[in-house]
Amino acid sequence: MYAREFERIGKRLIAEHLVGVNFGNMSMRKGDEGFFIKRTGAYLDTPGEPVFVHMEGDAPEEASSEYRVHRAVYQKSHYNAIIHAHPLYAVAVSVILEEVIPKDSEGEMFCPVIPVVYGRPGTDDLADNVARGLTRAPVVIARGHGTFAAGKTLDDAFVLTSLAEHSCQVLSLIEGFRNKKVN
Ligand SMILES: [Zn+2]
Repeated sequence: MYAREFERIGKRLIAEHLVGVNFGNMSMRKGDEGFFIKRTGAYLDTPGEPVFVHMEGDAPEEASSEYRVHRAVYQKSHYNAIIHAHPLYAVAVSVILEEVIPKDSEGEMFCPVIPVVYGRPGTDDLADNVARGLTRAPVVIARGHGTFAAGKTLDDAFVLTSLAEHSCQVLSLIEGFRNKKVN
């Protein structure tokens, strides 16, 4: 079931250009025991068998290198699914802004504040900061890196990833029109 779900959502992420090559990862919680996560190096649209990671202790070598972030989020929250992607506009906007305040209607409704968090990929710093950010909002952007979205299901996390990218695209386009307003 996990493998099929990962592939279904992975294909959507790639079709919407929310992630490229073998970047990004996703996971689904299995109770308090641990979670299934994408294999390291696997493409999201052909993820193969997900790898099980326990809530404590070492993770298998085949687990995505970003398993620390997923574990920290599950330990600090009740979320059941997490998606990490590298959407172009979200990454660009996060380099400049400390938080993203969407101006489009869906963004205002579903993710009115998108925190920007810090930390190098694969570090405990990133894990702590993303986990803390996701207690304030269901989607955050790791600065210059990518989004982490969490929800009850992978579909929820997918929608939030897509919404966040849409909001960042709209914000970027608004900037292009700033000096062109004619009264
Ligand atoms: Zn990444």
